[in-house]
Amino acid sequence: MAEVGSSARRSEDDRDEVPEYEVKEQNSKVLHVEAVGRLWRARLSARDFSLQENEEPESDLAAVAQDLGCTLDTAAELKQVCSTDSLKCYEDDSNADPDTIPEDTRLVTLGVRRKILEGREETLTIHRTCRQETFTYELESHALGKKPQNQSDLVEEGELVLTVNIFYPVIFQKHKEHKPYQTLLVLGSQRLTELRDRITCVSDLQIGGEFSATPDLAPEHISKDLYKSAFFYLESTFYNDMRYPECRDLSRTIIEWSESHDRGYGKFQKAKMEDYIFNDLHIKIGFPYLYCHQGDCEHIVMVTDIRLIHRDDCLDRTLYPLLVKKHWLWTRKCYVCKMYIARWVTNDDSLASDDPSLFCDVCFKMLHYDTEGNKLGDFLAYPYVDPGIFI
Ligand SMILES: [Zn+2]
Ligand SMILES: [Zn+2]
Repeated sequence: MAEVGSSARRSEDDRDEVPEYEVKEQNSKVLHVEAVGRLWRARLSARDFSLQENEEPESDLAAVAQDLGCTLDTAAELKQVCSTDSLKCYEDDSNADPDTIPEDTRLVTLGVRRKILEGREETLTIHRTCRQETFTYELESHALGKKPQNQSDLVEEGELVLTVNIFYPVIFQKHKEHKPYQTLLVLGSQRLTELRDRITCVSDLQIGGEFSATPDLAPEHISKDLYKSAFFYLESTFYNDMRYPECRDLSRTIIEWSESHDRGYGKFQKAKMEDYIFNDLHIKIGFPYLYCHQGDCEHIVMVTDIRLIHRDDCLDRTLYPLLVKKHWLWTRKCYVCKMYIARWVTNDDSLASDDPSLFCDVCFKMLHYDTEGNKLGDFLAYPYVDPGIFI
């Protein structure tokens, strides 16, 4: 009897964990991440989330025929028509050159591609949209289906994958309306610090100071190495990165401020970022949370999906958190060679016509220093980190 009682209670608890909207079409109510995995695994058959390639058994054909109310023959024909084999150009295309498009292709996409390639040969230009699409496609698909070299790095069956969007702070006026972001896939068993280490932001690479007298010393002053503190703020809890002795508890001032008067924010909690994995969290899907680093560089963080890993996903856990989408940003080029991305910005530069002026490392040094490395002319030089350089 006791057992029946406890299992009834468990199923009631589970019902509370089923994601429900809090605000329609926007965000769910708070849910325990681990419970989502548990509920799915209980609901699905082991074959559904198995990571082994399994051949579709013949009986599937009967199931399809029954679902659609058609004959076995029709189901078999449907299977053939919908098969990925029908996308092949040749009967046996194992030796086919993927860059050559056959003359008599029936596939519309290949016809369109041929037109674009011919147009490109005539004009020698690559359209911006085309480059962006190639870039997006490559980023999304580069790790699909990847298996680890070392078997111990294989993702576990039934593991959860969370889709996390990181929005960049408003660093330029033009980003006020449309904030660029990156999308990462993170595993439920990964620590919050693993995500934190994978988030790229220009403020981590800023190099503070004026270096016209000693340009070679600049790289030793990267902000990421100097200021290691950071936190995630999720559901009234500050998760502080305290892995290094020099890390400071950035949440302390905020908690003290909120507790100094009754400001109506309720009670804040704090925890160590390195002590928590994503499965431990109680969060809302689609809700904007906060990631703060470098003191005041604030990013909105949003979990937009939680699902079980699939055999077609990247199965190499060392590649997670996996970057799958990144906003396209133009890079700013050197004013001299107009080819390489700028690494230096100068002010009051007696050798340049613009103020400020941007230079790549080579042009900057060739123009501003003699062969012995002595400074020529008057100028102030600051290392420049282009927001478009990250992958
Ligand atoms: Zn930042
Ligand atoms: Zn240059």
